[in-house]
Amino acid sequence: MESFQSLSECASLPRNMIENSMFEEEPDVVDLAKEPPMYPLEPDDVVYEPRSSRLLVRGLGENELDEEEEDYESSARLLGMSFMNRSSSLRSNSSPYGGPAAGRACSFPSARSLLVGAFVLVVVASVSMVIYFLPKCTFTKEGCHKANQSMTLIYPIASNGQLFPWTSMRLPRVVSPVHYDLTLQPNLTTMKFTGSVTITVKVNEDTKNVVLHSSGLAISKISVVPVGGNQPKPAQYVEYHPWQQIAAQCPETLQKGKSYHLKLEYSANLSDSSYGFYKSSYQDKDGQRRWLAATQFEPLAARMAFPCFDEPAFKATFLIKINRDKEYISLSNMPKNKTTVVPGGFYQDVFDKSVTMSTYLVAFIVADFKSISMEANGTLVSVYAVPDKLDQVNHALETAIKLLDFYNHYFEMPYPLQKLDLVAIPDFQAGAMENWGLITFRETTLLYENTSSLLDKQLVTIVIAHELAHQWFGNLVTMEWWNDLWLNEGFATFMEYMSIERIFPDLNVGDDFLATRFRAMDKDSLNSSHPITTQVATAEQVEEMFDSVSYVKGASILLMLESSLTEKQFQRGVVKYLSQHKNANTQSEDLWASMSQLTKEANITELMKSWTLQKGFPLVTVTRNGTKMTLQQEHFLLSVDNSSSSSSYLWQIPLTSINSSCSNASSCKNMILLKEQSATIYVPEEVQWVKFNIDMEGFYMVHYGEDGWRDLIILLKNNHLALSYQDRASLIHDIFGLARLGKVSIQQVLNLTSYLVNETSTPPVTEALLQLNHIHRLLDKRGLLQLTARMKAYILGLFEKLITNQSWNEVEIITQQKLRSSLLGVACSYNHQKCIEKAKNIFLNWTESPANVSIPADLMQTVFTVGIQHCDGWNSLLQAYSSSPLEAEREKMLQALASSADIRKLIWLMQTSLNGEIVRTQELPLVLTTISKNFEGHLYAWGFVKENWDKIIKKFNLGSFAVHNIVMGTTSQFSTRAQLFEVKNFFGSLKDKGSQLRSVQEAVETIQLNIQWMDRNIEALSHSL
Ligand SMILES: [Zn+2]
Repeated sequence: MESFQSLSECASLPRNMIENSMFEEEPDVVDLAKEPPMYPLEPDDVVYEPRSSRLLVRGLGENELDEEEEDYESSARLLGMSFMNRSSSLRSNSSPYGGPAAGRACSFPSARSLLVGAFVLVVVASVSMVIYFLPKCTFTKEGCHKANQSMTLIYPIASNGQLFPWTSMRLPRVVSPVHYDLTLQPNLTTMKFTGSVTITVKVNEDTKNVVLHSSGLAISKISVVPVGGNQPKPAQYVEYHPWQQIAAQCPETLQKGKSYHLKLEYSANLSDSSYGFYKSSYQDKDGQRRWLAATQFEPLAARMAFPCFDEPAFKATFLIKINRDKEYISLSNMPKNKTTVVPGGFYQDVFDKSVTMSTYLVAFIVADFKSISMEANGTLVSVYAVPDKLDQVNHALETAIKLLDFYNHYFEMPYPLQKLDLVAIPDFQAGAMENWGLITFRETTLLYENTSSLLDKQLVTIVIAHELAHQWFGNLVTMEWWNDLWLNEGFATFMEYMSIERIFPDLNVGDDFLATRFRAMDKDSLNSSHPITTQVATAEQVEEMFDSVSYVKGASILLMLESSLTEKQFQRGVVKYLSQHKNANTQSEDLWASMSQLTKEANITELMKSWTLQKGFPLVTVTRNGTKMTLQQEHFLLSVDNSSSSSSYLWQIPLTSINSSCSNASSCKNMILLKEQSATIYVPEEVQWVKFNIDMEGFYMVHYGEDGWRDLIILLKNNHLALSYQDRASLIHDIFGLARLGKVSIQQVLNLTSYLVNETSTPPVTEALLQLNHIHRLLDKRGLLQLTARMKAYILGLFEKLITNQSWNEVEIITQQKLRSSLLGVACSYNHQKCIEKAKNIFLNWTESPANVSIPADLMQTVFTVGIQHCDGWNSLLQAYSSSPLEAEREKMLQALASSADIRKLIWLMQTSLNGEIVRTQELPLVLTTISKNFEGHLYAWGFVKENWDKIIKKFNLGSFAVHNIVMGTTSQFSTRAQLFEVKNFFGSLKDKGSQLRSVQEAVETIQLNIQWMDRNIEALSHSL
């Protein structure tokens, strides 16, 4: 998926994260996350859900088994598997269960069955006794571990009061799905759907129970029949809601090696979140509301549409049939095979049997969309949208065809399906989703009008490139479990930049990638960050994996690897990995193993593991003494109390450098692999300066010490063009980071930034603006009027010449658009007189005659933000927002509306967004983060979040990117102890409704760091400015 992010800020989350939830802005401050448990399913950790409904069952011989074996064994017993072979090594076996006894069909009740029945009764009775006598702490999260260490087996109680025969969020491997035959009939009047699914399963171990996922489905009937059999037998089932699992209790033992059909019939409501099989609507040009139903399954929502084995490793084929009314079309992953009329007068679309794939990639849509298509190399590519917006899909179609061709060649493996649909969905929380053959998008990430800015075009192109890359990385080869999500997302993010640089160089995506790497480092420098590969156990933890560590840090370490190898070597490694693991599931090691086969020069596995298994990144400190340079690495960790010891962290760093004697040619680049804590290199005596981490291709920061920084600052002031603009931007980023770490003073930072009066390149200017404006906002929120005004004057002074030189007419170069969009946005927000006058005039002309006045799209937000502050500007913009068919334009209008200083308007806007009237609910995170940037509304936004938390987490899942952005967006500029106390207090009171979220830890850590920064720097700042 791509998470959603907006283009309008200097710093935002990777566009790629557009898929899932990623369409929100990354707050422009660093954020932090907690360290998740390393072993997610240890019995102690299993206790988190309904604490009052679990039973403890004393295991047999627990002293002889470790906890994990014990857990499996007991589950296996409850699953109906006859016996455990205790001597077998459970974890080395492909099945977690030892060899069971031969099947004993339950159709022959025997003395043994009676014994089993009696045993169950005894267990139930014992359990009741145990509950009665256990202390209360047994059912709390904290439990009584020390006092009751022998009682480690915990079985949930199913919704009907029976024991649920499984103890883990992960499904057992007792049976494997092979094929799903799925029929769905959504009703877009009642907003309900009915479904029937026949799952063909292969039995790996004898069992009577089949545990699978189901969420919110009212199951009316289950039956089971051996493949080839003709007499299905009804089965009962029990359900355990917290894990969204059901266990079908078969009338007979399913025998190892055989296959069965498990048929389930059910009904449900179409979801009113944007998750699962959900309803959406739009207004057509006549003002009529039109309904549609679409899906978003990644990561855990296929189970909301049909009972299934909803884990990525359970790949199967799918035959999908959709019953619909005549006025709709239906779409699914595969091409439509035929349409027939079925009882009830419905049209049934039958799709081809799919390739083997994971459940989270299944998709279907019922809507009245229209499309345009073109065939390319045997694939029919189509782009769908609501009928009134069909004129905005041409760019997407052309782009998809070019990129498909690129990937077909790069991966040396053609796209395997006959068709590829790209569909813009009116309600869509993520940015886009890579469902195989049926990619879904937000309207802003697929539709492009020629009047939109190049930045909007860049966004659409990036998202398409990302989703198409997933058709190989993710769909064809899939991560085994969500702990390795980066294999999907890091790669798709890396490929999106790489492919666009080659196919659409004018879009200049390299600069965008650079800026997102800076932001990913900011997040990764916090204690609350996590390793790229991280154990995940709960649904929230799975959701939380869709963050910039998986996406951007993942992509960054691939960039670092590619730049350490040759491009050709890297590509051959990728091709080898894909061909070796086609249609299968992988872990990170598989990727490194494939890459390692191509080069003997480096131990790629060892090198890359140091980046995927440790959180954070290294700081390399350089100390020069004459010709000798000492290099030392340590964990770059922003910490308040230095409590987190990380001295054992060690990375293998491909350390690159240039120096004053040779800096322009690519041959000037030196590289060493820094594996130890320290190393020494030598430079000629006459070398005046050295710059490390060339073009910021490595994921590390560098501290040059007092002398080294002095030399570089002199260079920047005298001849900044001696360094690439990427290097200049990275010096700016690093020195602000080092100031946060306390390694350099704020005076040194301002000494460096003073060179910016001569800077004209976009990345250094936008990075400096972002960093300085962040400080300005912190000061502003503290009500430090004088200091805020001086900071403002300092920033405007640095960029005065550049601001004055900006044109307000159309420009055709994306870097210029990006530069003036950031620069004039900040200038107008600081009440720069000329900026305000210009923007105000354009706005007034536009409101008087919108048809005849076109505002350059990259300046729209600035113009609107100024315009709404005058006269009736806000109301006229709201009117324009309600009627504009252009999503990219609407988003800029919305951000302007949310920048008002009128509190009543802001409150109305937040409420309206939450309700989904006029402003779609998916925009709420954007509305809240925009309001929070300004002094006037920030406390109201936070108050709104507190008051509406329950509603917010119903609309957006706990752990989702949307919730992350809401939490961080509304709190990341707090910098007082009282605010820290309040934030801690509020989230602490939420218990299982959010207190454990990584984003909450990020928020707390960020506020603590803000407080520390203010304590350290306010005085120095007041002397320096
Ligand atoms: Zn993705």
